[in-house]
Amino acid sequence: MAMSTKAKKGRWFIRAFVVVALAALFLVFRFVERVDEDRRPGDRFEIVKVADGDSMELRGGDRLRLLAVDTPEKGEPLYDEATRFLQELTLNKIGRLEFAGARRDKYGRLLAFLYVDSLLVNEQILRNGLGYLYLFKDTDMDRPEVRKMLEAQREAMKHNRGLWAIDRTPEPYYVALNGAFRLHRPGCRSVKNKKPDQYQVFADREEGLWLGLSPCRNCKP
Ligand SMILES: [Zn+2]
Repeated sequence: MAMSTKAKKGRWFIRAFVVVALAALFLVFRFVERVDEDRRPGDRFEIVKVADGDSMELRGGDRLRLLAVDTPEKGEPLYDEATRFLQELTLNKIGRLEFAGARRDKYGRLLAFLYVDSLLVNEQILRNGLGYLYLFKDTDMDRPEVRKMLEAQREAMKHNRGLWAIDRTPEPYYVALNGAFRLHRPGCRSVKNKKPDQYQVFADREEGLWLGLSPCRNCKP
């Protein structure tokens, strides 16, 4: 039986509908990929705002916290210098992220190593003494970025750059819990009531920080 014109028209309509639906689906997937929860390594984006010495905003609204580095908080020495330094290095430029471990922190910010051109920004901050290396128990110490950053921090220490030029009243000794990366004053609540076999003792601040420990945020040695 020959198909009526009406039936032909109906089929054409279904085909057109399928094509449009597929195109729409394709666009949706493209969009989802673009604003994916976890950006892929090697993603490029523009840095549109610098919040402080180690965090910024990316085009699209994502926030980025630089990995393995801790810069002065507002009100602390060199806060302005660290913020300005990050602005000069990254603002309105195109960056590339490399992830290591958890991709976001508890505030929802991306956690990553940031490259602008061929510079590892995380490392440049340490090389200029504008932040401390800040590692965690699960940090892979063999990662090239981590090794570069420790080497950069040691260079800043040797040349008394930035934070390393600040005079501090020394404690008789400093302590760090075994396997942890924070250096404490002897009276810090984090190390109170610990047995001697649970921590290491350092004669001075630099001895611990040279190894890659970072100052505790509570007792601020
Ligand atoms: Zn402490």
